[in-house]
Amino acid sequence: MTQATGASARLPWAAPALADFWSMGDAEREELLLRSITAAHAYHFERNTAYRNTVAARGVGPWARSAELPRLLRATSQVFTSYIDILGTPFPQDQPAGFAEWLAEQVSVELRPQHHFRSRYRSLERLLRVVERAYSGPGLELLTSSGASGRVRVVPRDRASTDLAAESFGLSFQRYLGMGADYTAILMMPERTRIAPARIARYGMLRVGLTPDRVHCTTGFLASSDQVRVRTGRTYRTGWRGGIEKRVWHPALTLVQDRLLDAQAVESAISRLIPAAAHGEKVLLFGSLTQLHGIASFLLDGGRTLTLAPGSLLGTGGGTKGAHAKGAAGLREDLQSAFRLADGGPVPVRDVYTVADANWAAMQCSQGNYHIPPWVHAVTLDDDEAIQKQARATGQLAFFDPCGGGDLFPAFFRTADRATLVRGADCPCGEPGNYLEEASIEPIDPPAGAGCAGRV
Ligand SMILES: [Zn+2]
Repeated sequence: MTQATGASARLPWAAPALADFWSMGDAEREELLLRSITAAHAYHFERNTAYRNTVAARGVGPWARSAELPRLLRATSQVFTSYIDILGTPFPQDQPAGFAEWLAEQVSVELRPQHHFRSRYRSLERLLRVVERAYSGPGLELLTSSGASGRVRVVPRDRASTDLAAESFGLSFQRYLGMGADYTAILMMPERTRIAPARIARYGMLRVGLTPDRVHCTTGFLASSDQVRVRTGRTYRTGWRGGIEKRVWHPALTLVQDRLLDAQAVESAISRLIPAAAHGEKVLLFGSLTQLHGIASFLLDGGRTLTLAPGSLLGTGGGTKGAHAKGAAGLREDLQSAFRLADGGPVPVRDVYTVADANWAAMQCSQGNYHIPPWVHAVTLDDDEAIQKQARATGQLAFFDPCGGGDLFPAFFRTADRATLVRGADCPCGEPGNYLEEASIEPIDPPAGAGCAGRV
């Protein structure tokens, strides 16, 4: 991964380096963001078939005016699952050529396969690998949402957009969580995964300057979206394949996850935590609240409390409202009993909000608010999908990230979440800029599992 040389070096249109947005005044930043958004729009409008079709149908041409911004937004829950409607199946492995055509329409670079696809592949994972190999020229990577809903989002990345995502996450880890290169990171996630926020979080750690030997991934859950889908048990394939998935693989994977992988992840995390605590290393332990609680329970059952160096953090993804009998407050209480800081203080618990399609994260500060990095123009929409102008407004969260999609797609999205956004006021933590209020983020459509915040 190259060091930052400014976003402009990696984008075909002029854009400032991400970190420079912090040193700008509000007016200058707003103006630059708008200029970058319209430049990104013009670039992608010309090259990205799917994007052009959507926004042209709303009457937008290549030069968007600021009043037209809401019309550039596409829904995260639709864009990268749209192959399902086009192919008529949530299983693109059954129609590889159709899937490749769909993909070519979603990106602003020309994808020409060097390679004939078979008529079908045995899993989604297999298909994604074959497609990545067929287009290895632009360094194509296909990231996914977790797969729990059975409707997997397939988000394309290339080297430039992966690099920008790593930089975006890395800068936020430094600024909002206070991390530096002297941290040891223990991530409750598999090292090799295409689940987007998990993969980018790891890249972000490396970008902060942690050497790879200080970033530990515990294989906390099944790594491929096929496995996650079958274990979750909401969507099976049709015919005999589905029968086998349901009767054989679903119970087997559930057993492996519950009995083996969860325990193995706890053991792996503990085996890293104990020496880090003994050496006085600052630690970031990152996982879902339930996963972190698994570690706390293990320690408490053995009558242990782990004392970590000041500066250490517990990071959560996927919200802190925990679907657990004890409730979030109970889980947090156990975390505070199991972990202490060497100076006697409680170990801070910080949540990280991400969307699978986004190249940025909003990280919780010491005051519990979620800070939006200044290179992202976040807005809330009212029920008529108009942008709310107030300094503090609650509505559907949407964002324009002019650099985030790199040269592949415009990252202008409506999320599947509602939140309260505060703009242009300093957070009580002292940080200027825009933030989402603590405990204000709610999925709009809770049961479907689409667009879950940081469900990694
Ligand atoms: Zn704050």
